[in-house]
Amino acid sequence: MPQEWDIEADVVVVGLGAAGFATSVTAHDLGAKVVILEKAPEGQEGGNTRVAGQGYLNTSSVDKAIAYLTALCGPYTVPAPMVKVWAEEMCQNNAWLESLGGDPQEHQHPPVGIEFPDLPGADCVHKFHDGPTYGYSYTWQLFERLVKQRPISILYETPARSLVQHHITKEILGVRSQRGDRWIHVKAGKAVVLTCGGFENNQEMIRNYLPGIPRCYTSGTPYNEGDGITMAMSVGADLWHMNNYAGPSMALKVAEIRTTFSMQALHYSKEMPGGMIVVGPDARRFTDEKFKTRHGKVPVNGNWLPLSTPCPMFLIFDRTLFSAGPLYDKHPSHGWTQIIERYDWSEDNSVELAKGWIKTADTLAALAAAVELDPDTLAQSVTRWNRHCDARHDSDFGRRLMLAPIVEPPFYAIELSPSMLNTQGGPRRNERAQIVRPDGTPIPRLYSAGELGSIYSYLYQGTGNIGECLAFGRVAGRNAAAETPWQ
Ligand SMILES: Cc1cc2nc3c(=O)[nH]c(=O)nc-3n(C[C@H](O)[C@H](O)[C@H](O)COP(=O)(O)OP(=O)(O)OC[C@H]3O[C@@H](n4cnc5c(N)ncnc54)[C@H](O)[C@@H]3O)c2cc1C
Repeated sequence: MPQEWDIEADVVVVGLGAAGFATSVTAHDLGAKVVILEKAPEGQEGGNTRVAGQGYLNTSSVDKAIAYLTALCGPYTVPAPMVKVWAEEMCQNNAWLESLGGDPQEHQHPPVGIEFPDLPGADCVHKFHDGPTYGYSYTWQLFERLVKQRPISILYETPARSLVQHHITKEILGVRSQRGDRWIHVKAGKAVVLTCGGFENNQEMIRNYLPGIPRCYTSGTPYNEGDGITMAMSVGADLWHMNNYAGPSMALKVAEIRTTFSMQALHYSKEMPGGMIVVGPDARRFTDEKFKTRHGKVPVNGNWLPLSTPCPMFLIFDRTLFSAGPLYDKHPSHGWTQIIERYDWSEDNSVELAKGWIKTADTLAALAAAVELDPDTLAQSVTRWNRHCDARHDSDFGRRLMLAPIVEPPFYAIELSPSMLNTQGGPRRNERAQIVRPDGTPIPRLYSAGELGSIYSYLYQGTGNIGECLAFGRVAGRNAAAETPWQ
């Protein structure tokens, strides 16, 4: 317990993304004094929400939504009361945003995006964004405007570091946060709500919790480092869904830039001239490089498993693809690299070649040596691929797009890493958005919302994350505001 509190509020919200928005606006509008602690500097707040595709889910029927989420969870079941609250609230997202002055617009461009159309209840899925244009942080801008229209203080560059817990009652009384080299103690008279996102940038947690990958990098905010997991565990929280994430895909990660570059040639909807394959450290292909995964999951023997991404992986291609324009799509509709970092990739890829991000050699054998692959196996993999192209049939992985041979020297390689949008795991919460202990009892005055301990345990429906931020943000905000202040 600190000697004195530097700042006092009823509800302290940790992290300003979609979940922080929904929580703080709800609590404020119910009469609570709200303070938001945000780790990022002003201009980089908003987390993954700021750079997301900007879609959020609004389901059309509670019963169908219950059926669909239950099916998405498959064998990794989630308690029925949680599913029910999710479904009830998910149907209210548009009405709530409209009541605050939002302009919900349903996604029009195909595919509208029911991710698992064969599952029961799937036709309840409707994906929305705010305003006429999809992408470009527009939905986030509504959320941020609604926070800033209210007398809610936002403390930027003030990461929460630990929770202040009463040693006998175990109630959460406030937050210890850091500002430069100063510690700031923030009193939460009613409750603390953790909305500080997942562990996309915590490589140790990635190694411990995500299945089969030694490392993974994000296309979202670099500020989500699993802090909410560490803080909640320290006060006794249980964890759930730590092995589930929206990924992996395969992308370029370089030391100079915090987030990943997605390669246009690997996008399932882009056809580019020239030949390319991806090989693993054994110099062999391991997948249909153009397969449209379901947020990183692929069908394996009747189950959905994360795409196998043996590290290090290499995109191998020829002069035709290299000369076809920028290998990276710098269009800023979504993604941290595009919207915030704004790295200006050269039109002819020459700058990235000079930086060594792209390696080249006149022969495949020399290219193999440059990236430390076995030259004979790489030559076999390319020859085999070229035969598939001649036959117009990839008998190994059934790839149907960009069936062009790798023949035009010089040859090129880019090292690829597993990349993700976001993690789903974190402290387990109940249907009141309270964080619970392993025995299921709530930790008093501690709530959460958003991707930090998301409900998604197995399969994921696109736009479900921001939809859930709004749904459980409202639940957390309501219940936090209704707490009686501690003495
Ligand atoms: C490229 C991309 C596209 C996506 N597209 C979609 C989409 O269209 N629809 C959809 O539903 N989902 C999408 N997702 C996923 C979705 O964006 C996120 O899951 C969702 O926005 C998470 O919201 P949140 O509020 O829980 O966390 P975030 O929006 O990530 O916000 C967390 C905030 O907490 C802050 N923070 C972290 N640690 C601390 C700390 N210790 N103290 C204080 N603050 C802290 C961070 O700086 C950040 O501002 C996408 C993700 C990415 C990366």
